[in-house]
Amino acid sequence: MALALGALIALALAVSFPFVSFSVSGIGNRIELTQTATSLIDFDQSLVAITVLLTIAVLPAVYLVAVVWLQFGLLRQAPLPASRSIARSLSHLHPWMMADVFIVGALVSLIKIAGMAEIELGISFWAFCAFALLLLFTTQSLDADWLWFSLAGEPLAPPGTRTGEPASRQGLAGCATCGLVNRLDDHGHCRCRRCGENLHARLPHSLQRTWALLAAAAVMYLPANLYPIMTTTSLGRATPSTIIGGVVELIQMGSWPVAIVIFVASVIVPVGKLVALSWLCLMAKRSDELKAATRTRLYRLTEFIGRWSMVDVFVVAMLVALIRAGALLSITPGPAALAFASVVVSTMLAAMTFDPRLLWDTPPAEATRTAQGRPR
Ligand SMILES: [Zn+2]
Repeated sequence: MALALGALIALALAVSFPFVSFSVSGIGNRIELTQTATSLIDFDQSLVAITVLLTIAVLPAVYLVAVVWLQFGLLRQAPLPASRSIARSLSHLHPWMMADVFIVGALVSLIKIAGMAEIELGISFWAFCAFALLLLFTTQSLDADWLWFSLAGEPLAPPGTRTGEPASRQGLAGCATCGLVNRLDDHGHCRCRRCGENLHARLPHSLQRTWALLAAAAVMYLPANLYPIMTTTSLGRATPSTIIGGVVELIQMGSWPVAIVIFVASVIVPVGKLVALSWLCLMAKRSDELKAATRTRLYRLTEFIGRWSMVDVFVVAMLVALIRAGALLSITPGPAALAFASVVVSTMLAAMTFDPRLLWDTPPAEATRTAQGRPR
C-alpha cells in the first residue's frame, strides 16, 4: 500500500513538471513527460505514441490504483467490490509496464545528444526515476499467494486428486493466476473456482497461434531494419539512420557501452526470441522430461527479456519530442519505429500464447508404455 501510493505520487509529479530541456546555440526546447508520446502524433506515428503512453504511464497507473484498491479492502478486512476481477487482471498488466525500460531509453538518448547540445534534467526526470523504482518494489512485494488466500481463502484440491501424476491425465489443471488446482470439464476447459480465470488443459491452438505471431514478427523485422528509424536534420542536412546505423554511429562516437546496450536490445533480443520460440514450437511435440527443464528455462528467459527490446522505440520517442530546433537541429521518426514496435509486441504475444506445459507432455507411445507398467 505504502509503495503503491508512493509510486502514484511520484508519477503525478513526473507528469506535472518539465522533464528535460536542451539548447543549442541559444535555441532550445523544454518537454514534459507526456510530450514523448504526443510529439509522435504530429509525425503520424499515433500507434507508436499510444504504445509509449500506455506502457510508461497509463498501464502502470491503472496497476497502482488497482493495488491500492485491493490493499485498502484487505486492510479493512472487507474486500471492496470487484476485488477478484481486479486481482486477476494484475498479472495480465504486469508484462506491459515498461517504466524501467523507458529510463534506459531516456539515458541512451541523452548520451546520444550530449555532444550536440546542452542538456538539463528537470524535476520530472528524477520523479520518474523514483516512480520506476517504486513501481518495481511494488510488483516485487506483491505476494500473489497471500493475496488470493486473503481474498478467497484456500479451497481444497478436487476429490480424487493424486499427487506425483501429471494433472492432464487426471483431467486437472493448475490456475496460472492464483495457483489453485481445478477439475476440468469434458472439453478440457473450466473457470477457476477461486479467481474466475479461464483454464484449459492446454491453451487451445497454442502452437498455431505462436507460429502465426512469430511469422508476423519475422515479416515486420525486415522493414524495421531496412527503413530508417529516425532522421536527424543538422544545419539543414538530413541524415536518416537505421537501427544498425545507429549502433555504428554510437561506436564511431566512442560510446561503446551504449552501442552494446542498443545492439543487444534491438538485434540480439528480438532475433534471439524469434529463434528460441520457433525452436521451442518445433521441439514441443518431441520433448522428454530430461530436456523439458532446460527448455522451460529458455522459455522463461524469452518471456522475461522480451520487453527490453522497446529501448530503441523509447529512444526515438524521447529524441523526437526533445530535439526540435528546426533546420538547426531536429529529429523526426522513421517508418521503422512502428515496424520495430510491432516486432516487440508480436514476439511478446507469441511468448504468451505458447503453452510451456506442452514441453512436459511425454510422447503418447511413451505414456502408454508407462501406464502399462513396463519400465522406461
Ligand atoms: Zn485461479
